[in-house]
Amino acid sequence: MGMHFDVKIDPKSPLKQTVNSLAIVGLRGYQSAPNFMTTTSTPAEKPATNLRDERMEALYRTSDRVSALSPSLTLAIDAKAKQMKADGQDVVGFGAGEPDFDTPQHIKDAAAQALAAGFTKYTPSSGIPELRQAIVDKFKRDQGLSYKPSQVIVSNGGKHSCFNVIMATCQKGDEVIIPAPYWLSYPEMVKLADAKPVILETSDRTEFKVTPAQLREAITSRTRLFVLNSPSNPTGSLYSREEIKALGDICVEKGVLIMSDEIYEKLVYDGAEHVSVATFSPRHFEHTIIVHGLAKAYSMTGWRLGYLAAPEPIAKAIDAMQSHSTSNPTSFSQRGGVAALNGPQDHLPKWLAEYSKRRGVAYQKLNQIPGLSCVNAKGAFYLFPNISKLGLKSTEFCARLLEQEKVAAVPGIAFGADDYIRISYATSLTNIEKGLDRLDKFARSLAK
Ligand code: PMP
Repeated sequence: MGMHFDVKIDPKSPLKQTVNSLAIVGLRGYQSAPNFMTTTSTPAEKPATNLRDERMEALYRTSDRVSALSPSLTLAIDAKAKQMKADGQDVVGFGAGEPDFDTPQHIKDAAAQALAAGFTKYTPSSGIPELRQAIVDKFKRDQGLSYKPSQVIVSNGGKHSCFNVIMATCQKGDEVIIPAPYWLSYPEMVKLADAKPVILETSDRTEFKVTPAQLREAITSRTRLFVLNSPSNPTGSLYSREEIKALGDICVEKGVLIMSDEIYEKLVYDGAEHVSVATFSPRHFEHTIIVHGLAKAYSMTGWRLGYLAAPEPIAKAIDAMQSHSTSNPTSFSQRGGVAALNGPQDHLPKWLAEYSKRRGVAYQKLNQIPGLSCVNAKGAFYLFPNISKLGLKSTEFCARLLEQEKVAAVPGIAFGADDYIRISYATSLTNIEKGLDRLDKFARSLAK
């Protein structure tokens, strides 16, 4: 008997609703992923199987570990929107989790030169010394933090760095506190490590920030890690210096490690500042693992370069783990990474000015849509409007929005918040205006 027929999904569960609504938008390729085939079949409905079928099912059984995973809904929506575009439909995409700018030329040149010079072989597993040093220098320069190169591990993207941290620090019986709305990969990574995600709900009333009281109450003797992501994907929310310190103080007091995902560090607006929890005191520093990457500030999403900075024993464990799993990140990408961190940073003010303009327009237009309300988040390139007054849950909302108005947004359910949708403004002003006009029309059609 195969795993896939054993798993029951409550028809009212978000996952089941997701399955139904994805069917509405015709995300069939997405649904056909083996682990997503787990449906509400009962033994009575099971098709008759012959011996060969049963043997093949047993042969293709996947581990409990991966069977528990939900696939990435953001990638699925993005793929669907791209496919509709390729079919010639006029789709406006708000689904992107990546900058729409090109990687700055000097970074591309450095990688091209590395390729031309034959820098195409294995490198040290945790990154080339020049890049680890460039990261050490970046932490010193930007945040006043002193790491040794041995505390820095370069990986295949910030996502890989998060995965490494969670796998290296968490195990069965451990709890990981994750504020919701969360970046959708955190809970899945925690499940892969056999640990338990403990979700702390927040809402737009607190700008999607957890309070110190909430954190304190959630910590138990099993709490291993607190995941802090500021600025946040999906909400764009940025914690203030005081707010971050208060959360950090509790983790220090209780002996809880903090995984601080600072990948959106450079993308902050309205004169706001990004503060790392590691900066408050040596004790805070000791309790923090910073996860970072080059994807967002240098528009290098496809280069697959991320990094982390951790206390020595944890960095050592991750070094060993990476040496037995992925080995080094791509050699010539790493040379691009050195150029990114050590080279001119003058692209950033230009990008920030552009993002800032788009954010202003998107924020204003979203709040003019009847039934919708939106917090003016200070970071990243996302806004996270509340759709609860419009009478649809997020998956159906997004499925119908794509079908009716050809606008792709990501349902909040993917991030643990079903009353919201995620709008990425990493797209042109023209698209933002066109797409939000269509969203306005859609919202009005629902209100009727
Ligand atoms: N953390 C957060 C919060 C993110 O939004 C992302 C990208 N969507 C990542 C980490 C990982 O980025 P990458 O693997 O592309 O470096």
